[in-house]
Amino acid sequence: MRRLMLFVTLFLFLVSYAQKPNVYILATGGTIAGVGESSVNTSYKAGEVAISSLLDAVPQVKDVANVVGEQVVRIGSQDMDDSTWLLLSKRINELLNSDEADAVVVTHGTDTMEETAFFLSLTTRSNKPVVLVGAMRPSTALSADGPLNLYNAVVTAASPDSRDRGVLVVMNGSIYAASDVIKMHTTHVDAFRSANGAAVGYVNNDKAVYSYPAVETAASLLFFDVSKLTSLPAVGIIYGHAGVRGNVVQSMIDNGYKGIVYAGVGNGNIHRDIFPVLEEARREGIIVVRSSRVPSGPTMLDNEVDDAHYRFVASQLLTPQKSRILLQLALTKTDDWIRIQDYFNIFR
Ligand code: ASP
Repeated sequence: MRRLMLFVTLFLFLVSYAQKPNVYILATGGTIAGVGESSVNTSYKAGEVAISSLLDAVPQVKDVANVVGEQVVRIGSQDMDDSTWLLLSKRINELLNSDEADAVVVTHGTDTMEETAFFLSLTTRSNKPVVLVGAMRPSTALSADGPLNLYNAVVTAASPDSRDRGVLVVMNGSIYAASDVIKMHTTHVDAFRSANGAAVGYVNNDKAVYSYPAVETAASLLFFDVSKLTSLPAVGIIYGHAGVRGNVVQSMIDNGYKGIVYAGVGNGNIHRDIFPVLEEARREGIIVVRSSRVPSGPTMLDNEVDDAHYRFVASQLLTPQKSRILLQLALTKTDDWIRIQDYFNIFR
């Protein structure tokens, strides 16, 4: 009788294992893995807790998926860099191309989460879900948001409805598209927004609910193969403001930057002191992208600035920080500003 019971239990376990999707969780650190001095103190250190402990804190994820945790790096996302992006992207492509993984979740700090999500959306290719998640409060805080966010991310990754939607960000119950998501608050748990639209869906109990069927996302029209790359071209951002001086651009020219994104005012407008230095950059073959420090709305081609005359690229709906990433990747293929403008035109 005991043997029969054992056999039935084992059989049921195997059936439930086979029915659940395999979700890989790649951990990079951030506040979700942060440890504070006390549960009510706002000071803490990001990236201290290992992925195994994070998963132990949310045993419920095992009802949704067969999860495998993998520690990639353990950093605060303010320290994210090109080499970590390349490492992450290559590992994700490897998993997506294998039968081992049905979906990937990346735990990440919230500071640069929108940038990593956008980078991955342009450099990974699969119809399997890739979901980024983080937390605004460290794991030791009262009402830490990490455990529920992680559960929601696994629910989203495990859902068949999340396929063909590109890279997603799941924070505070909402699901966002990588190209449009932006951190809009420095500290609140409800920190993320869609800059030019709405969240694509939300997580309700144990379901990912989408507002519309999967359609071709802007990012899905572009793919940059980084499998053989070990570095990316240097591209920097200049922040526009009243009284900005041209010498801030000069240092990028002197330091061999291949691209400059100007986070202009309004519709990507440029101070008259900066214009001649950006023209000089163009003469030296550096690609100049006009974007805007305003978080919503497009930087349009040829409005107040005659882009065709200056051979500048307009960023369309991409923020300066996302424009920088697209320009880095574009420069791995071409330095033709008209072709690069075509890449940006996808984001309208
Ligand atoms: N500085 C942290 C990070 O981005 C903040 C967070 O995760 O919320 O890693």
